[in-house]
Amino acid sequence: MSVAQAARHNGKADAAAEFDAIVIGAGVSGLYQLYKLRELGLKVRVFETGTGIGGTWYWNRYPGARFDSESYSYGYSFSPELLEEWNWAERFAPQPETERYLNYVADKFDLRRDIQFNSRVAAAHYQEETRRWNITLEDGRRYGTRFLITAIGVLSAPTMPRIPGVETFRGQSCHTHYWPKEPVEFAGKRVAVIGTGATAIQAITEIAKTAGHLTVFQRTPNWAAPLHNAKIADEEMREIRGSYPEIFAICNDSPGCFIHKPDPRATHEVTQEEREAFWEKLYAEPGFGIWQGNFRDILTDRAANALISEFVARKIRQRVKDPAMAEKLIPKNHGFGTRRVPLESGYYEVYNQPNVGLVDINETPIERVTPKGIKTSDAEYEFDLIIYATGFDAITGSFDRIDIRGIDGVALKDKWQNGPQTYLGVLVEGFPNLLMVMGPHAGLGNFPRAAEYSVDWVTGLIRFAHDRGVTRVEATATGVAEWTEHVLVTGEGLLMNEIDSWMTGVNRNVEGKQTRKIMRYSGGHPAFREHCDAVAADAYRKLALA
Ligand SMILES: Cc1cc2nc3c(=O)[nH]c(=O)nc-3n(C[C@H](O)[C@H](O)[C@H](O)COP(=O)(O)OP(=O)(O)OC[C@H]3O[C@@H](n4cnc5c(N)ncnc54)[C@H](O)[C@@H]3O)c2cc1C
Repeated sequence: MSVAQAARHNGKADAAAEFDAIVIGAGVSGLYQLYKLRELGLKVRVFETGTGIGGTWYWNRYPGARFDSESYSYGYSFSPELLEEWNWAERFAPQPETERYLNYVADKFDLRRDIQFNSRVAAAHYQEETRRWNITLEDGRRYGTRFLITAIGVLSAPTMPRIPGVETFRGQSCHTHYWPKEPVEFAGKRVAVIGTGATAIQAITEIAKTAGHLTVFQRTPNWAAPLHNAKIADEEMREIRGSYPEIFAICNDSPGCFIHKPDPRATHEVTQEEREAFWEKLYAEPGFGIWQGNFRDILTDRAANALISEFVARKIRQRVKDPAMAEKLIPKNHGFGTRRVPLESGYYEVYNQPNVGLVDINETPIERVTPKGIKTSDAEYEFDLIIYATGFDAITGSFDRIDIRGIDGVALKDKWQNGPQTYLGVLVEGFPNLLMVMGPHAGLGNFPRAAEYSVDWVTGLIRFAHDRGVTRVEATATGVAEWTEHVLVTGEGLLMNEIDSWMTGVNRNVEGKQTRKIMRYSGGHPAFREHCDAVAADAYRKLALA
């Protein structure tokens, strides 16, 4: 839309712009939500900030970006035809392949005609008189809808570090989320990467292959384990295709929707030799097995967690030649698996290369970004390129960036000041007709498996309301209190919840996000679905319907 058009629209609600449902976000979740709402015959519009399909896989184009989930466990399961048609080329698809896949889905189901790109939703205000939501885009265009559905992602609000001088740098710089669409050359360049989370680990490994010199600025090392990616040959793809029902059944049965299920044994139930052999096997296998398919107690029992941490530390020491460097790369403030485990393809060996250096910013903090590079407490580094791999204001960040107001103008951000309060991760008391796909207090994991369920549940509720002339659906205060309490209780005893990470809502770069909160449901997806199914089967009596 041109500036002139925007100005014409500014502040004006267009009568033609009234919808039954508005979905925010055109990623994995939003695309499927659109598909399902069309099946109900509703008038739907999707708003998306980006200029293309794909959400995470549209934005994150940095070198090395790829799944840590097995591709064939990540794709949509809802369409047998789609499963039949799509061939995954790699076990863990790189970003371009996934972006192609999601575009293929959008074309196949003719989704594009209801998606409005370049359209960031800035505000959403509920009107009690009409039981409808007023939506305002960043450019001032306004729309109305009965149901507002957020599919805005858990990792879609990128954060920059709080370092002075970022804007003064004269070279090229960018956050990994906002990676340019044009190729970026590293050959002969002096490159800085700030951050050592999952994204950084992928990017560093790739950039180190060609950069003139790469300097990594690390605050918190993470426990990474090998990905073991490989191409999928035609024959293997045929086998995968034949096994889709089993693959999805395993995912649905596992706590994190991955194809890896926890081993039923406890760490101390086996001998040391058996333990070592099991861990060697997991370390040599592709994917999240070492995290999700490990002994059942490694994320709840401190002694068990210490043992697996020591095993992985040994691996790092074997792979990094310089013992002092290896020690810097071994996490000391959290145990293995208590943060999201990044999977890597030669990350540790990068630090054996002469063109790679590591700066521990706990020892020598970054003081500022300068026009030429980065100044720490003991040195000034010059760079051609600075890459901010500094992650996201996770889970609630994308909500906080929209002015969402419910009954009596109450802001969602204020309501959640002390942590999210939801019913089933979908509804919020005081915000009728707002439905969140994969909202806070839903379970995380292999995302599309959980997102498909979430979309189906939201669609079921809208169908129910639509069929009965119900124009207002809201969580009750009791329902929210019960669910929030249940989420807290199921999180007790999990070592993950004792650690600062994006999964516990901590981001040192975001004001007000310094203390841990319970952000996600950790009772496992099978239990989560049981709760949600029971509510639907009971005709949604636990909700306030009118
Ligand atoms: C680098 C990276 C690697 C990952 N790897 C894996 C993996 O291996 N396995 C896995 O299961 N998950 C992975 N994830 C998580 C990933 O986010 C999910 O798998 C999935 O893509 C989320 O889909 P979504 O549609 O819910 O959200 P997103 O893909 O985040 O899409 C949300 C969309 O909403 C849009 N949006 C947000 N706010 C607004 C607004 N106000 N107005 C308009 N549009 C808005 C955004 O622009 C975005 O396009 C990864 C995430 C990242 C960042």
